[in-house]
Amino acid sequence: MDSDSSIGTYRSRYTPEEGALLTRLRIFIVMRWIAIAGVVIATLVASKVFHIGFPTVPVYIICGFMLAYNLVFLFQSKGLEKQQSGTVIRRARINANIHLVLDLVMLSVLIHFTGGIENPFIVYFAFPTIVTSIVLSRKGTYVLTTCALAMVSLLVGLEYAGWIPHYNLQGFADPTLHQKGTYVLPGLAALATLLYGATYITSTISGELKKRQRQVLILSAQLLKKKTAELEKASKEAAREREMQDKLSAAYKDLSESLKQLKESQEHLIQAEKLTSLGQMAASIAHEINNPLSGVLTYTKLLIKQIDDNRYSKENALVYLGKIEQAVTYSSKLVGNLLDFSRQSPPKFWELNVNEVVERSLDLTIHSAELQHVKITKELAALPIIMADFDQLQQVFTNLFMNAIQAMPNGGELTIRTSADGDHIKTEVQDTGVGISAENIRNLFTPFFTTKKETKGVGLGLAVSHGIVQRHNGSIDVKSEVGKGSTFTVLLPVKALSG
Ligand code: ADP
Repeated sequence: MDSDSSIGTYRSRYTPEEGALLTRLRIFIVMRWIAIAGVVIATLVASKVFHIGFPTVPVYIICGFMLAYNLVFLFQSKGLEKQQSGTVIRRARINANIHLVLDLVMLSVLIHFTGGIENPFIVYFAFPTIVTSIVLSRKGTYVLTTCALAMVSLLVGLEYAGWIPHYNLQGFADPTLHQKGTYVLPGLAALATLLYGATYITSTISGELKKRQRQVLILSAQLLKKKTAELEKASKEAAREREMQDKLSAAYKDLSESLKQLKESQEHLIQAEKLTSLGQMAASIAHEINNPLSGVLTYTKLLIKQIDDNRYSKENALVYLGKIEQAVTYSSKLVGNLLDFSRQSPPKFWELNVNEVVERSLDLTIHSAELQHVKITKELAALPIIMADFDQLQQVFTNLFMNAIQAMPNGGELTIRTSADGDHIKTEVQDTGVGISAENIRNLFTPFFTTKKETKGVGLGLAVSHGIVQRHNGSIDVKSEVGKGSTFTVLLPVKALSG
């Protein structure tokens, strides 16, 4: 558990190789605790349960010694864990070597006091070998294995020769076994093959593992490099994107500012345009009214002078009064139109059929059409009843018909078409007259726009018609081709006004 949490800490502070080595050192220490406990338990069981006779005191002393140096190792390894990364590997290796040599010596002494070659636990010499292969190089492991074997052989040999005392496991093994060459030699041979076999297998596996670990390290380093490069690239791109965003928002700010300025100047322009239109309108009205008025003034003055001079004749007076009447009639028509335009009187809605309005408007204009040899064609479809102002619609249609007739001074054809599509009633007024230029079409519905100066056109007919149709929630549109004719289309809503 402790080593696991330690691995976590190592990972953050050390290179993976250093971390692995420190973990192994901690595992050695833990394994040593287990080994000491195992030896104590085995000694107790052997002596107390199986009553095997051997000197237990040296065994316990050895265990105590091992306990002591394991404690020292524990503190050392804790000290190592606090060290800077970089110096750890060398020191950990030295520590591991010291551990192994000490373990080997302790194991030899332990085996010496517990029967030497008769002790089946002699095979435990394989443990330091296995452990070594995990930490040391393959060569180092073989050296240590050879050392271990040499130490065991020396111990067994010295006991065999009687140069050092032999402690028999009384009640367990034959006391002369250690001097029987037929047992000792095969025993040592078996141990040697076990040790070298274990060394071969474990060092091969651990070599393979180390190789894999190196490969993993190389791969992870490559991956790290790649990821770092990718991250750098991404952060550069993000910086570039941020820059672009900043530029964009600056541009957007500029644009909004310009738009604001544009709106302001547009408002100023509209204001100026309104003033200009108003001025133009006033000038036009003044001009339009001034002409007939000056006529009235001239003829009135003439008449007064003739009466004063007693040169007055009834014929003359009638001629002058006739001229005055003409001028006043024109002025009154002009004022009437102006009133229509300015009053913008709300329509008085009645149920009506648009076809009837068309017929009544035609009645009023048919005489002019005949005079100008204009043929009238009616294509009137059955229409739903709608709510509308009869008089105002009649004013619109009369105006459209009169304009069409006037656009055909040498005769032509006036076609009036009505239809309904469910939502709207459509009235088309089509002529084969002079047509309207694109420039004039733009001004067509502007008050006082007229091309009929000679025939005393006022230029209010279409402006008034446009206002009337708008107040009916409808629309008026024109399509025209110079020299071919024009078509005015009036759309009136069915539902909105049908109640
Ligand atoms: P007015 O008839 O007094 O000139 P309107 O507002 O009715 O005033 O018409 C404005 C102008 O539109 C006319 O002077 C004429 O130039 C043009 N116009 C209107 N209807 C037609 C049409 N059917 N064909 C050609 N021009 C037309």
